[in-house]
Amino acid sequence: MDVASRIKKLPPYLFAEIEKKVEKIRNQGKEVIDLGIGDPDLPTPEFIIDRLCLEAKKADNHRYPSYRGLSAFRKAAASWYEKRFGVTLNPDREVVSLIGSKEGIAHFAWCIVDPGDIVLASDPGYPVYKTSTMLAGGIPLELPLLKKNQFLPDFTSFPDSVLKRTKLIFINYPNNPTGATVDHRFFREIVHLAHDYDFVIAHDLAYSEVSYDGYNAPSIFEVDGAREVAVEFHSLSKTFNMTGWRVGFAVGNEKLIEALGRVKTNIDSGIFNAIQWSGVEALGRTQEVLDWIHPIYTRRRNLVFEALQACGFEVEKPRASFYIWVPVPTGYTSMSFAEHLLERTGVVVTPGTGFGQYGEGYIRISLTSPEEILAKAMEKIQNEL
Ligand SMILES: *Cc1c(COP(=O)(O)O)cnc(C)c1O
Repeated sequence: MDVASRIKKLPPYLFAEIEKKVEKIRNQGKEVIDLGIGDPDLPTPEFIIDRLCLEAKKADNHRYPSYRGLSAFRKAAASWYEKRFGVTLNPDREVVSLIGSKEGIAHFAWCIVDPGDIVLASDPGYPVYKTSTMLAGGIPLELPLLKKNQFLPDFTSFPDSVLKRTKLIFINYPNNPTGATVDHRFFREIVHLAHDYDFVIAHDLAYSEVSYDGYNAPSIFEVDGAREVAVEFHSLSKTFNMTGWRVGFAVGNEKLIEALGRVKTNIDSGIFNAIQWSGVEALGRTQEVLDWIHPIYTRRRNLVFEALQACGFEVEKPRASFYIWVPVPTGYTSMSFAEHLLERTGVVVTPGTGFGQYGEGYIRISLTSPEEILAKAMEKIQNEL
């Protein structure tokens, strides 16, 4: 018996070594502080849970949901886009519900990519861009996000021949892991390129609402011509502390949304309607949630940023996302510095190389722990360095 070659080609799990070391330190009775995972520690707001409880009791919601998503949920997503970005979407043709945005991103490659097609995936980036391309038989190429370009892709570094063979590009701003943000000019440029070279843009907007200092992350659909070439993936996970609920949505080009819906029809049977109704509730009361989480993340960001700066790290203060992207001191690699921190302080961080080769030289610190825990971790790091 053997597994398919497409499975064998998937990259190995990078953090196995670190996890073994974490285990060892825990077994020695030492304290471990995990700043590695990007998963909100704050609870899902009560009013969303209340709505779930209410909807879970209705027998109508116990049956198979609709494939494209509950109409009320798609309408709520469209209204949310209108209010938040000034973008008008047709809820029937330009919106599809997702079992978390990861599910949609992973299945999207199947809609676009034929064997041998080139897909450009942000590097460092969410690993699913690359692995879903591989599963669909495509060829993932790294789209390097470098500090000298403010962590934006530089398309002039690609020969014409590559761009001509490119079918799909995965981008993500506000960016995980670098915390980089973009403005309309960037979207105008990439949309222009997509028209010129006939490729599709998949924009991952998971962190649109996790921002600081009044920054409002734009949607790609705020620029002209995007609707012809792009889809945008959105998640309730990070905005509403709902990672475990598995609910998100994709919006954009009608033909692409139809294709994604068609793939999904053949793979899953949608999201529990009670969860979609909870999503309607959440989307309708976004501002209340942001008024609560923004000050919390801002205090955490300031605390970690200031502590790292005091240690001599050349960090930048992110305008969005709940991550700090930290250059490692000279003499270390991403992995060796993460291991060093773990061994000396018990603090777990994510090595930048977990997000691709261009993450080398960085570690990622996640702000999804309470302020006291972050303060303790920073104190341990300060004492060690
Ligand atoms: C967390 C995350 C997602 C996935 O979120 P879901 O829980 O699947 O909706 C997608 N993209 C990025 C960049 C993320 O960090």
